[in-house]
Amino acid sequence: MVAGIEAPQLPLSSENYCIVKVAVPVPLRRVFDYLLPENYPITPQPGMRVQIPFGRTTKIGIIDEVESLDHSDLDTQLEKLKPITQILDDSPLITESLISLYRWMGQYYHAPFGEIWQTLLPTALLKGKPAKLSRSSRWTITDIGRESLESGKLAKSAVKQKLILEQLIKNPTGIAHDKIKDFDIPYSSLKNLAGKKWVSRDYITDNDKNIASQVNLPSDIQLNDEQLSAIETVSQHLDRYTAFLLFGVTASGKTEVYLRLIQQVIEQQRQALVLVPEIGLTPQTLRRFEQRFNVSVVTLHSGMSEQQRLQSWLKAKNGEAKIIIGTRSALFAPLKNPGIIIIDEEHDLSFRQQQGFRYSARDVAMVRANLEKIPVLLGSASPSLESLSNVSKGKIKQIELTQKAQNTASLKYRVIDLKNQPMNQGLSADLIKSIKQHLQQKGQVLLFLNRRGYAPVLLCHQCGWSSSCQRCDTHYTYHHQNDYLQCHHCGSSRKAPHQCPQCQCDQMVPVGLGTERLTESIKHLFPDAKTARIDRDTTRRKSAMQDFVSSVKAGEIDILVGTQMLAKGHHFPDVTLVALIDMDGALYSADFRAPEYAAQLITQVSGRAGRADKPGEVLIQTHHAEHSMLHQIIHSGYGEFANSALNERVEAELPPHTFLAMFQAESPQMAHVKYFLADVKQILDRYSNLKVELLGPAPAVYVKKAGKFRYQLFLQTSSRNQLHQLLELTLGDIEKLKSASRVRWRVEIDPVGD
Ligand code: ADP
Ligand code: ZN
Ligand code: ZN
Repeated sequence: MVAGIEAPQLPLSSENYCIVKVAVPVPLRRVFDYLLPENYPITPQPGMRVQIPFGRTTKIGIIDEVESLDHSDLDTQLEKLKPITQILDDSPLITESLISLYRWMGQYYHAPFGEIWQTLLPTALLKGKPAKLSRSSRWTITDIGRESLESGKLAKSAVKQKLILEQLIKNPTGIAHDKIKDFDIPYSSLKNLAGKKWVSRDYITDNDKNIASQVNLPSDIQLNDEQLSAIETVSQHLDRYTAFLLFGVTASGKTEVYLRLIQQVIEQQRQALVLVPEIGLTPQTLRRFEQRFNVSVVTLHSGMSEQQRLQSWLKAKNGEAKIIIGTRSALFAPLKNPGIIIIDEEHDLSFRQQQGFRYSARDVAMVRANLEKIPVLLGSASPSLESLSNVSKGKIKQIELTQKAQNTASLKYRVIDLKNQPMNQGLSADLIKSIKQHLQQKGQVLLFLNRRGYAPVLLCHQCGWSSSCQRCDTHYTYHHQNDYLQCHHCGSSRKAPHQCPQCQCDQMVPVGLGTERLTESIKHLFPDAKTARIDRDTTRRKSAMQDFVSSVKAGEIDILVGTQMLAKGHHFPDVTLVALIDMDGALYSADFRAPEYAAQLITQVSGRAGRADKPGEVLIQTHHAEHSMLHQIIHSGYGEFANSALNERVEAELPPHTFLAMFQAESPQMAHVKYFLADVKQILDRYSNLKVELLGPAPAVYVKKAGKFRYQLFLQTSSRNQLHQLLELTLGDIEKLKSASRVRWRVEIDPVGD
């Protein structure tokens, strides 16, 4: 890569110029025009980085489009336009299909172009680092070098060179470049020898890993008929776009199906892109892929350094990496020879980007696969209603795996109705009894509670004062261990008061149950059992999650208390009891998707139990034991629940039956937010001929967050086209609104959550 060729300064002496339209990382839905002489040594193309003057600073932008300039308006243009400072790449950073994907995202999500690029490219590249692989290399002695040394051709004075050659003879496999300095050898002597071809430097690429025998097939796995037919179905479509939903119960062997398909893809010299919810939490998945194939497997996730991510990204781009496994944003890895995209646990919310440019990796994956003309495979035991609706519309082909791959040990569900039951620290007598039984039979127990901390509220027993975050209007969560209060909305924290700030009494009491408190009471109730807690507070250390998982598997833990983090993909063969401590919040929430999420959680969580030959039990504590979702899940399975939930969405005219977009605005001043959204509504109302219904403006579920008030205006329609048309027609005017400058706002397509 040639980087850093200085562009000539204005006035330009060249006869011909082009206008380069540049996407700049600013929250504006437009590109910016710059000038470039046509005799500039690099031909500008979309997807190259440029350095540009922007306001009073310089920025790095990405070329969006190049137009040749009509000479007649050159003079007027010249006055307004500034030249590009320099072009940073000598070829586009991403493939043509990714450029098309970028354009599609711009149109579909109506997002600022610069923000989309920020999602598409690794941070290192956005900061202007060269798009260059840093390879390790080794020095070895050549035959000429050996002969020359032996025949005494080396000058007597060349002491250093002699030392090098002797060392290289002693190390027949060569010496790594970064180890050379340990031998006290100057680089100049080495270069001297290399010039004479007496030594050579070899760069190590991952291609060395992509050797002939690429697969280590396990001997103990005989694919069952359902798996065989799933593999057969997808492999017939490897040469074209088709979307598949692999709807398979937990442990039905979905991953095994992915592995066999990837094997075929690799045999065709192509690459597989695999998206997983949270790679940091599931290192086993990665290891399974690495163990199966002798090819280069690279990862892309937020736990890696900028440089590591760039290296993986570049190896995907040059085709060296055959398997790319990563989280959401890995979807944008450039692929030289794309073969398949797989999204494991496709229902998982982490596939939805919730900051900056908001997109659904699942939806974008389908568009990308279509552009690349390859299949996309979505896998889940509890598919999203969006995907199931796409199945019924014929956009996705469904493949089912109905049996567990290794055993048929049964799973027994029981709902514990908490109404009028005496409770002991959040646990019913029924549940305590079951835990006892399972421990006696040497089973492990998993307890789920989706609330970290000790207690969600700290209350004064005397005057009723409660600790709340001033910036969010929500209660602070009390954390006992380090005795502090933390707001789980904005993250702010402070020391817990031991005296009531209002009445000065010292009767502060924690109210409600979090994982920390639950763990404490479990230890109290079962003093002989080994209990551990897994939540964000106990897994901050990098390898913490993995350590916990290993201890559970090694039988060093009897009772595991944890949040949803635990529900993702782990295989715990000796767990026989899984209990959901509190399903009430999940069943009744303001979010219309709450029952879907709860059903997915129950399905996933219960998948952790009884994976080996031991029958498992799932207990659900709730005050709403009669809730229809619980009955459907328990008696007929997730599919049945999903059917009726989809029908409800049709009746309520909610997604996926209809389509939503949302304007959200926030500001420390509530009035500004309201004025802005009222203005937005007025502009949208001009096009009442379009069949788009406006709902709101109304406060967000958590109206105040981190000191800002948040309001929303929803756009609902049964015609995506009309929705896009409306936004196309109005966003320009909305951006120019005076009231827009006083708030932070965004438009979000297919919004999810808060
Ligand atoms: P899922 O991805 O659906 O949760 P996995 O592919 O992880 O399921 O399979 C669960 C377990 O069953 C794994 O240990 C896997 O190696 C094993 N397995 C998968 N398919 C078979 C098979 N046909 N015969 C025996 N074991 C299998
Ligand atoms: Zn008080
Ligand atoms: Zn807060």
